[in-house]
Amino acid sequence: MTRYCRYVLHGETRWGVLDDEHIEPLDGSPLEGPAATGARITLSSVQLLPPCLPSKILGVGTNYRAHAQEMGKPIPDEPLLFMKPPSALVGHGQPIVRPAGSWRVDFEGELAVIMGRRARRVREAEALDHVFGFTVCNDVTVRDLQKKDGQFTRAKGFDSFCPVGPWVTVGLDPSNLRVRTWQNGALKQDSTTGDLIFSVARVIEVASRVMTLEPGDVITTGTPSGVGPIAPGDVIEIEVEGIGRLSNPVVEETP
Ligand code: MG
Repeated sequence: MTRYCRYVLHGETRWGVLDDEHIEPLDGSPLEGPAATGARITLSSVQLLPPCLPSKILGVGTNYRAHAQEMGKPIPDEPLLFMKPPSALVGHGQPIVRPAGSWRVDFEGELAVIMGRRARRVREAEALDHVFGFTVCNDVTVRDLQKKDGQFTRAKGFDSFCPVGPWVTVGLDPSNLRVRTWQNGALKQDSTTGDLIFSVARVIEVASRVMTLEPGDVITTGTPSGVGPIAPGDVIEIEVEGIGRLSNPVVEETP
């Protein structure tokens, strides 16, 4: 398996190949046949960025049975798709800004897919051939607005509501990966992608019947049970087996 990261160092943004605590910088994007540079820098010296440049971010609502139960919703008969704007993206370590007010804002730990090849009307059996790799996503949601608005644009669309990273892992089988979320070190979500109602391949099939999925597009696959509200000062960590741990602090919006 290969891990690619995007990072900024001394004001310069690049992709790199990760090797434990070191990065080999690349010339170009891993989606477009990058050139190796042979250089070597330490992971701790860079600021990681979201490992994707999507034209769109798709989410799947209610895709774990136990989460459907905790939300009091029936098991859906097809994937419930929604979108988050690319402006919501932040990388590993960057803050989640909690909007001012008394809203309930929840973390949602999820496996996310990064597309590698254009996908239009692909069948489930070929869907994973169009995937570049997998990363971790926190599908941050204002629960009150999700209910009040009857759709998800505002609830899931605030700036910083899509932490993604810390990197993308290529060559992973997504069918049975443990997904865990900690809030200030306390385990809150613990499930596996084996409990997904709709598999990654099935979601790609359904989504690509509606819209063309472009290289770099992100699909975040839904959250297990155990979601809960975040508060300023919190640290939310999400780990997906075989990828790594995405960590983001929560701060209050400043007027
Ligand atoms: Mg979600």
